[in-house]
Amino acid sequence: MTKQAIQFSKKKRSKYRFQKLKMCKKCHRYSVVNSEICPECGSTFIGIERLVQSIYKKCLFTEAIKILLLVCIGIVAAPTVNSLYISFITGILFLVSYVLLAAIYRKSEYFNHLKKLLRVDLRKIREGIQFDSDLAEEDIKQEKMVSAYEKLREIGDFIYSDQVKLRRVMVLNATFLRRDMELELEPLIPSSYDKEFVKYALEVLKINRTLFTKKCIAYFFTHRAEIIRDFGLNPLISVAGTVLRMKLYILEFSQFIEEFLEYLPRDRFLRLCNLIYSYPEVEWGSLKEQVQRLVEREYHYDPDFKQFVS
Ligand SMILES: [Zn+2]
Repeated sequence: MTKQAIQFSKKKRSKYRFQKLKMCKKCHRYSVVNSEICPECGSTFIGIERLVQSIYKKCLFTEAIKILLLVCIGIVAAPTVNSLYISFITGILFLVSYVLLAAIYRKSEYFNHLKKLLRVDLRKIREGIQFDSDLAEEDIKQEKMVSAYEKLREIGDFIYSDQVKLRRVMVLNATFLRRDMELELEPLIPSSYDKEFVKYALEVLKINRTLFTKKCIAYFFTHRAEIIRDFGLNPLISVAGTVLRMKLYILEFSQFIEEFLEYLPRDRFLRLCNLIYSYPEVEWGSLKEQVQRLVEREYHYDPDFKQFVS
């Protein structure tokens, strides 16, 4: 697949994931992708919040009608004028109290209806997301990378499977990545070693190393043998260099740095020396000894390292 230069749209943010769900009122299919039109029947999707509100309103209306009917029966069946008045007044009081209570508990009732809908329609929601996934697959086949990626990005908020993650990685590897793109790395880490993911992560490393979080560094360290086999030593040296961004990372991944210490470029190694000697109170463990030994062995003639030679 030839690489494409493309621009993805900004991802829509929502407070809760369920807010991204929508349903076609005509064919009752759920979807999570950005499109507002149902590709099955051409109708407009309705957002889950509006859907729940309309269900809730219908429910309130039905209950109010039932109360009114009871009042009417009470009035019609009243044997005397007095009991007719009593039925009428109690009925109206009952209706007013019902409306007041409904207004007070509106929010909790709304969430009860929402939970009920999500529980009852769980299978339909799954089928809808699977349909979205099939559409994304179709887009990939037709090399419509923007459309495929934007669908997979939304699906990825609901399904954390390796299959979805690696499809996204596949699309990203087929495009030219740029710093201004809204790239993600940590959410795409698969559960086992994957060459395509490493390839993508290394591209990200070139353009935005701040995306290399603890989880990603740990992934590289865990799969270092496979990475050396497929990509050689350089990627791991670069990632070890990335670890030196923060003192906390150095402490957490000291074993990683120790393993690749002698391959670190001079400027990265100098940074490490400066950090270690700026914080003498920190427990650096064997890393400090290894650094000391390397300074004495390789850098003892270098004036920048003079202060670190004991
Ligand atoms: Zn439809």
